Amino acid sequence: MKKIVLASSNAGKVREINSLLSDYGIDVVPQTEFDIPDAIEDGLSFVENAIIKARHAAKLSGCPAIADDSGIEVDALNHRPGIYSARYSGEGANDQKNNAKMLGELAGVPDEQRTARYQCVMVFMRDGDDPTPVITQGSLEGRILDAPRGEGGFGYDPIFLLPEKNCAAAEISLEEKNKISHRAIALNAMVSKLKELKLIG
Ligand code: IMP
Repeated sequence: MKKIVLASSNAGKVREINSLLSDYGIDVVPQTEFDIPDAIEDGLSFVENAIIKARHAAKLSGCPAIADDSGIEVDALNHRPGIYSARYSGEGANDQKNNAKMLGELAGVPDEQRTARYQCVMVFMRDGDDPTPVITQGSLEGRILDAPRGEGGFGYDPIFLLPEKNCAAAEISLEEKNKISHRAIALNAMVSKLKELKLIG
């Protein structure tokens, strides 16, 4: 295995995944380099959506593929917005509108009931018909603040408190976040599993 297609065009994700897999002589190539359009994510869980994306990229490229699906789960919202995190505030959703909607839904909810976590599921498929995809997961626990803080990060980071650091995820550096994030945990677990299965080495 020399090349893995990444079912995403996010430059940050390509860089992060490449930095771990290049040690094994693997080149991670975004699916846009194969002119592969985004898959329709109509699964009902992170696992289903990550499999849909990896299968689509593997089928259309003829190469092994890797995909991730992530989002935020808020306990007081009964796990919402979950797989709908990017489009939580509906038509024309963006980070600011999503954060405002969440703060509105949680208005009056006390601190101890504002627990939440980022989730990331990562899937590797040897080919488009692989019946046993390799699946890993990572999560990062936190709490929803009552107002945005910090300028960094993306998505829900300004309202996501990291209790152990006592600051918002938007207040730490990208380098620091990449050490503790749900994506980093899922990615490191994926590298270990691929090694164990002798798919890389
Ligand atoms: P995707 O898996 O990259 O499509 O991410 C789905 C959505 O989950 C993003 O658009 C964000 O709203 C949210 N999300 C995922 N990871 C993070 C994170 O690390 N910080 C903030 N928001 C995140």
